[in-house]
Amino acid sequence: MRPGILNPLFTEVEALKGVGPQVSKQLKKLGIERVVDLLYHLPTGSIERIKAPAATAALLGRIVILELTPFDTRDSRSGRGPSRIFANDSDGNAISLVYFNNPGWAKRTLPKGEKRIVSGKLEQYGDEWQIIHPEVAEPGKGPPLIREPVYPLTEGLTNRRLGELVREALERAPELAEWIEPSLAARECWSAWRASLARVHHEPGAEDSRRRLAYDEIFANQLALMLLRQSQRRHRTNALPGTGELIRRLDLPYQLTDAQRRVIREIRGDLAQMTPMLRLLQGDVGSGKTLVAVAAMLTAVESGAQAAMLAPTEILARQHHATLLKQLDSIGVRVAILTGREKGRARDSVLMGLADGSIDVLVGTHAIFQEKVAYKQLGLAVIDEQHRFGVSQRLLLASKAEHPPHLLVMTATPIPRTLTLTQYGEMDVSRIDEMPPGRTPVETRVISEEKLAEVINGLGRHISGGGQAYWVCPLVEESEKSDAAAAEERARVLKLRFGEDKVGLVHGRMKGAGKDSVMARFASGELAVLVATTVIEVGVDVPNATLMIVEGAERFGLAQLHQLRGRVGRGTGKSVCLLIRGQNLTDVGRARLSLMRETSDGFRIAEEDLRLRGPGEILGTRQSGEDAFRVARAEDVAELAPIAQSDALLLLDRDGGLKGERGQAARVCLYLFERDQAVDLIRSG
Ligand code: ADP
Ligand code: MG
Repeated sequence: MRPGILNPLFTEVEALKGVGPQVSKQLKKLGIERVVDLLYHLPTGSIERIKAPAATAALLGRIVILELTPFDTRDSRSGRGPSRIFANDSDGNAISLVYFNNPGWAKRTLPKGEKRIVSGKLEQYGDEWQIIHPEVAEPGKGPPLIREPVYPLTEGLTNRRLGELVREALERAPELAEWIEPSLAARECWSAWRASLARVHHEPGAEDSRRRLAYDEIFANQLALMLLRQSQRRHRTNALPGTGELIRRLDLPYQLTDAQRRVIREIRGDLAQMTPMLRLLQGDVGSGKTLVAVAAMLTAVESGAQAAMLAPTEILARQHHATLLKQLDSIGVRVAILTGREKGRARDSVLMGLADGSIDVLVGTHAIFQEKVAYKQLGLAVIDEQHRFGVSQRLLLASKAEHPPHLLVMTATPIPRTLTLTQYGEMDVSRIDEMPPGRTPVETRVISEEKLAEVINGLGRHISGGGQAYWVCPLVEESEKSDAAAAEERARVLKLRFGEDKVGLVHGRMKGAGKDSVMARFASGELAVLVATTVIEVGVDVPNATLMIVEGAERFGLAQLHQLRGRVGRGTGKSVCLLIRGQNLTDVGRARLSLMRETSDGFRIAEEDLRLRGPGEILGTRQSGEDAFRVARAEDVAELAPIAQSDALLLLDRDGGLKGERGQAARVCLYLFERDQAVDLIRSG
């Protein structure tokens, strides 16, 4: 139960003055539904106004507040040009107030002979001084603020109105007991939570206050992850020592790399314990993670347990299923697949096989962890391509069973060390830092979109020589609909050129079956070109495809480009990646693309991606999904996460039940950032 002190913050915005259905709908567009969301809707800057007794030349170009008395008006001539109202300041200077529309309303708010407080940018026009579309108030009634924070807005909502709502929200905000270690707060000169919030809104440049709020968020995240780890460590589960028997019988056409061997050893060491494993396996695209997962799953099967492998997409689940069937069927391990598309009989038979233990290994999408799916003895869960899944999902998975399964999470997203700490702080980490031998590095070229015709000619030569290629279309905006439209258009053009039956199209809005059949035709070599939005980003393996073309490359994150490039260079032949860039490239954009040309080291790319995103960029919305921070920026995370981690550790060391004064405050912090599930994991007693 959320502590009562937070109730005023978690009430709906409708509770605020003058917020009806319409305003609340506008606020919702900004992600603001409750009072707390308003508090964390931080300004991006501020307007500074100068209050002056009279206009002077020194004030030209500044935003001023003046007391003026209108004395004359000049209407727009025959509807062309603006209308003007002339007013005097206390020194008798005439200032022209300019209106491009609504002259009647302007005259009513600025009646002749009556004093008004007028604010706006003072400009010179010919030999007149003027203010265009000033803000006007009657003396004594809500004069403009000297310093007004500027908020991200949406259609129909003014900055002034939003500012008022934030101020009302601030008034409702309670004082909260401090959860930050006193010595840390003192060292950083941080004020209390409420004061910091108020200051960030009133003085948008107040960096120390903003940093404190970012710290709160990072701290809540660290504490939640640590609680998860502790709870996982408290659980007992079945040890899966394995025998090595099945793994020995695997028929592999290649030798394991040293890195694969080392990582498999680490995982088997964990599985042999009665404490559930919680391990992250990082390995660049193509480094051979699947085989490591196979070894882990076989260890579970050797020990008499079942294993399940969760893939983020249908396509990937089917591909894994095919790989596993090929490797495991011959050694007597029974493999099945379960996704949203298995229905009726097929589904029932899988469910039965899981319950009676006749299925050893299950592959699928999240359907495999639904309530209704009962395993005889699930010993190991492998989650592939973790970045699509959030912390909360992991929390759920870990806390559900009485004997929770050992957990192996695999990701090809090379996460920088600093971020690994925050996003996976609770996990042990294994890294595959070596590629299988015999791979030729992918040659990367950056080409201007003006040369699109040449690129298409090159593609023609590539496929007439028997090659296959991916063509990835740009992200138009944050909408699958328009992304799909761009891809459809590109596919149409390429089909005209190369033939209807040579070019396939997949995008995020296609249904599973349609998508899979196109992918299958590409994998079998029937299609020469696969046009796609980023749905192919994850995991797909077609060794004969050796050309990757990415349109609008500057619009992708570097980590994403790296993933895309990883789709080629999977066979022994030489592969090429063409990054097509738009014409208005910024310096940062240029630097990012040349980094792609320079290196194929995923970890370096990830570190640079973080650096080149520059300050102000909030941790990727599209990439980190539900884990995105509200306040903390990438550079805050890099700097503050280690501090937050040791602070959280220390706190839990002294007060594991979070019962003391600071412990209680920290609970409030967890609720404030909606880590409710983590609070449920706090040790009782
Ligand atoms: P990822 O880490 O991206 O999931 P995969 O597991 O799909 O990579 O492996 C990529 C390709 O490398 C597969 O075709 C796989 O058979 C092959 N592979 C894996 N391990 C080795 C190895 N030790 N030597 C050679 N090829 C390997
Ligand atoms: Mg993979």
